[in-house]
Amino acid sequence: MKTPRELKVKPIKNGTVIDHITANKALRVLKILQLPDQKTAVTLAMNVQSNQMGSKDIVKIEGRELESREVDEIALIAPQATINIIRDYEIIAKGKVTLLDEIKNILICSNPNCITNTPEPVEKLFVVLQQEPLVLRCHYCERIMDQKEIESQFEML
Ligand code: ZN
Repeated sequence: MKTPRELKVKPIKNGTVIDHITANKALRVLKILQLPDQKTAVTLAMNVQSNQMGSKDIVKIEGRELESREVDEIALIAPQATINIIRDYEIIAKGKVTLLDEIKNILICSNPNCITNTPEPVEKLFVVLQQEPLVLRCHYCERIMDQKEIESQFEML
């Protein structure tokens, strides 16, 4: 009898594993992290079965430990995501993404007349009105942005 040959994903030696990403959002998470680039090894699993979530995505990034700012950005797309930092095949730090009360310099205001879309040296700043689904308000022009609009800023193509 033939046994199915499995494509084993080998564990990473050093880097970051992002688990519990909302199903089908892994590509947007990569976009936030400005991946893929020319050199980083990235392993992607999408629509994997999960007891907690039904299905989920997983991203493994070789040789890169995410900074807390990047982790916070992931919360915009995947509020359940967990972050594992790996060194020498061991998990040395484990955490959950947290959505901050204010989102600074990540998103672009959808109002073309907003001061943040002019050459003025103004920080892009949004206040979180609601977490899930996410609703934000621009600090300057008060334009409301919903989850769909926010996600559209992290599309791959
Ligand atoms: Zn605005």
